[in-house]
Amino acid sequence: MMIKNFIGGVWTASHGTTSAPVHNPSTGEVIAQTPFSLASDVDTAVTEAKKAFASWSRTPAPKRAAVMFRYRDLLEQEFEALAQLVTRENGKTLEESRGDVRRGIEVIEFACGIAHLLKGESLPRVAEHIDAVTMREPLGVCAGITPYNFPAMVPMWMYPVAIACGNSFILKPSEKVPLTAIRLAELFAQAGLPDGVFNIVHGGREVVDALCIHRGISAISFVGSSAIAAHVYALGCKHGKRVQAAGGAKNVLLVMPDADPDPTLRAILGSSFGCAGQRCMAGSVLMGIGKATADQWRERVTSALSTLRVGDPAADTTADMGPVIDAAAQQRFQKYITDAAAEGADVAFDASARAPEAGFFAGPALVDDVKPGMKLFEEEIFGPVLSLVRPQTLTEAIEMMNGLTFGNGASIFTNSGAAARQFVQDIQAGMLGVNVGVPAPMSLFSFSGWNESFFGDLHVQGIEGVMFYTRQKCVLSRWDKSYVRAMGW
Ligand code: NAD
Repeated sequence: MMIKNFIGGVWTASHGTTSAPVHNPSTGEVIAQTPFSLASDVDTAVTEAKKAFASWSRTPAPKRAAVMFRYRDLLEQEFEALAQLVTRENGKTLEESRGDVRRGIEVIEFACGIAHLLKGESLPRVAEHIDAVTMREPLGVCAGITPYNFPAMVPMWMYPVAIACGNSFILKPSEKVPLTAIRLAELFAQAGLPDGVFNIVHGGREVVDALCIHRGISAISFVGSSAIAAHVYALGCKHGKRVQAAGGAKNVLLVMPDADPDPTLRAILGSSFGCAGQRCMAGSVLMGIGKATADQWRERVTSALSTLRVGDPAADTTADMGPVIDAAAQQRFQKYITDAAAEGADVAFDASARAPEAGFFAGPALVDDVKPGMKLFEEEIFGPVLSLVRPQTLTEAIEMMNGLTFGNGASIFTNSGAAARQFVQDIQAGMLGVNVGVPAPMSLFSFSGWNESFFGDLHVQGIEGVMFYTRQKCVLSRWDKSYVRAMGW
C-alpha cells in the first residue's frame, strides 16, 4: 500500500516514517498510503537530477522532442486506463477524467515542437563587423508541486515543458492523488527518457520547504491554494529561485438579460458543478443583471439541479457529478451552507441530504441573495455550491467582481457585443469567457491568473512556460574581413 518515490530511474522507499491515506472519494475506501518523505529524500533526488541534467541539457532539442513524441503515443494507448485511475483517486466522472488527461496530452503535443519553440533571434551586422544572436538554455533542476484537483493535467502543465527545454525535474504530487503521477512517470521512462530526468518525491510540507530551500534547485512551479502559493513564492524567492505560483480563485458567471437560455444553462452547470466544483476555473458566483433575470436563473438552475445525478462515477456511468475529495472538504461545504443562512442568504436548493451514504458526497447547492462581504461571496469554496448575486447593472456587477481578492477567471453570457466588450475591458482577471463557462486556456496559451490567484511573472504553459524554464544568452560576434585579407585567403 505504501507508494514509493521515483529517484534516478529507480522506485525507492521513502525515508519518512509517517504517511497519509489515499482514498477513493466515491467509496471512502483507502487505496494507498502516501509517505511523508524527508528533506534527505529531496537531497538524493536533487543529486540524481543534477547528474541527469549534465547530459540531457546537451541532448539536441529534436532528440528530446523524439522522446516526447513516443511519450505522447504511449499516453494515447493508455488513455482510458489513465482516465479510470484519475476517477479512482480523485472521484470526478470518467468524462471529466478524460478531459483531465486530454488537456495534459495537449501540453505534451506542444512540447513536441520544442526545437521550434527554442529558436532564438538574430541580427547580422548589428554594428560594423558584429553579428548578434540569442539562444535559450535550460536552467538546471526544476521542481513542481501540485494540487489534488487535476491529477494528470496540472503536473503536465509543468514537467513536459521543463524537460523538453532540457531541464531535469522533481515532482511532488498532491499526497491525496499520487497514483496518476506514478503511472505518468512509468510511461515517460518507457518512452526512453533517461534515468534521473524525471523524479517524484512524495510528501507534504517538509518536501515542499526542502525543494524551496535546496541550493541545487533553480526553479519552482506551484499550483494550489493562495495561502500556500504565497508561502512557496516567498520561500523560493528568498532562496534565489525563479518561482511561478498559481493560487486559488473566485470566478464569476455574469448573465445578461439577452443570454441564450439553453447553451448558457449548460455552460453554468458544467462550470459550477463539473468536477464537483473543484476546479480553479469553476464558476462560483452567478450574477443575473436585474431582478427579472436573476429570478429566471434561480428557477432554471434550481430545476436543473433537481435532476442532476450524483453518484460513484465508476459504479454508475450515468452520474453527472461525483464526490468531493475527502471528509474535510465535505464538512467545509456544509459549514459554508450553514454560515450562509446565518449571514442572511437564502439557501434555495441543497441536495446534500440525498447524497450517497458511502464516500464524500456534498451538494449540489444554490444559495440566493448572496452579497459582497458574505463568506460565500469573498472566499474560495472549492465545492459544488453556486451563489446567486443580484446587481442592477453591468457596471455594478463589474465593480463587485473587481472587489474580489482573486483574479483567475470570469465569464459573460450575452448576445450584445457592446456588453461583452465592456466586460472584457473592465474586468481585473486573467482568463475571460464570452459565452464560455470555463475559459481555461489550452496548451498553446499561458494559464494567466491575476491578483491573489498568481504570484510571479511568467505563467505555466504556452510560450511563457518555455520562457520560465529557460534563460537567454545574447552573443555578439566580431569577425573582421581584414583578417582574411591579411592571411592572403
Ligand atoms: P493545497 O494548497 O492544499 O495543496 C497544494 C500542494 O501544496 C500540495 O502538493 C500539498 O501537499 C502542498 N501543501 C499543502 N499544505 C502545505 C503547507 N502548509 N506547506 C507547504 N506545502 C503544502 O491545494 P489543494 O487543496 O491540493 O488544491 C486546491 C487548490 O488549488 C484550490 O485553491 C484551487 O483553486 C487551486 N488550484 C489553482 C489552480 C490555478 O491554476 N490557479 C489550478 C488548480 C488548483
